[in-house]
Amino acid sequence: MLIRTLPGPVPPARHEILPSYITRLATLHGLDINGLWLQVTRPAYPGAGRRVVVPERLAALTGRSVHALAGAMPELRDPAPDWEMFRHQPQTGCHRCDARHPGGRVVRLLPHHTYVCLRHGTWIGPPDIDHPAVDLTRFPEIIDAQLRHLLLLRRCGWAATYDAVLTGLMICAHICSPDGRPTLFGFWDTWDDRIDILIPFDRKKQDYVDYSTSRLFAAVYPEAVALAPLIASAYWRRLAGGTEPEQARFLTAVASRVTYPYSPPLPALAANRLARHEKSAMWFSRLRRNQGRTLLFHGHLKPVLLRDRDPQYVKWEGTLWHSTRTDDLMREEVAKRRRAFEAATLPHYSSGS
Ligand SMILES: [Zn+2]
Repeated sequence: MLIRTLPGPVPPARHEILPSYITRLATLHGLDINGLWLQVTRPAYPGAGRRVVVPERLAALTGRSVHALAGAMPELRDPAPDWEMFRHQPQTGCHRCDARHPGGRVVRLLPHHTYVCLRHGTWIGPPDIDHPAVDLTRFPEIIDAQLRHLLLLRRCGWAATYDAVLTGLMICAHICSPDGRPTLFGFWDTWDDRIDILIPFDRKKQDYVDYSTSRLFAAVYPEAVALAPLIASAYWRRLAGGTEPEQARFLTAVASRVTYPYSPPLPALAANRLARHEKSAMWFSRLRRNQGRTLLFHGHLKPVLLRDRDPQYVKWEGTLWHSTRTDDLMREEVAKRRRAFEAATLPHYSSGS
């Protein structure tokens, strides 16, 4: 098949998937997407319905070498990359990076360790609904967590890092689940404050229009990454699956990594929050009560929840689960804090509006 080189072929984006690139090329040149797809693909095997891209045809179409195309697009690499290193689902990336790539939506298959665009300081997160990536100017700790995540990757390799960070996210999800014991770990307020900024309440629409589970992951990401070296370490994993005193030592180590160095006084915190948006009952009922569960049930954590190859994990996941279950005392504590919070914010709010 003779393929004519397109007049102005744009380059593929890094980690872009082939259908995304071909769709952009078609859009930019006013061509039929299916027609272009047929030109650069062949049946996976004789008579197959599934088609695979022929790298040489794509090279002819774009005037770019197979080598250059494969550098950006893992699907074209020969030998094939270790697909386990990549997420199971393609997603959109950083919208500021994408702005350099015309022709429509850029869809990428990103490696497990990509949560933040370090060039633009934006949250990419796990695959989720397509919101533009979140600007992290106000969250240097989330950007820093991505750097620490990459350090761990260099030290432990992708598999151990992937497992450790995902488990860290799961632990954080347990801690902020409705039965969580915020005072045990002392991180409730920090996560709440981040979520306030990441998912602000739109007063006009009376809704959380920017809501996405990916943003909830952003809120707990720094602590998940802080826990990851602990989880990746054979020593701490042994303690986590060990005797009760050993498990207690492990939990103490967990608590020391997810505890904020100071606890701001409640009224100041309340006023601060109020300045940002109204804290309605709806907020608590619709989102706050469910944020831990929302994280736990998101597909991103599935690999770690379904893991059964290592009974040690199951054992200490159980430990954590029990340690985060509410008892009456904690329930009272949470209710007390909420009452104090409402007492501090409601008069201020009614006089201000
Ligand atoms: Zn970017």
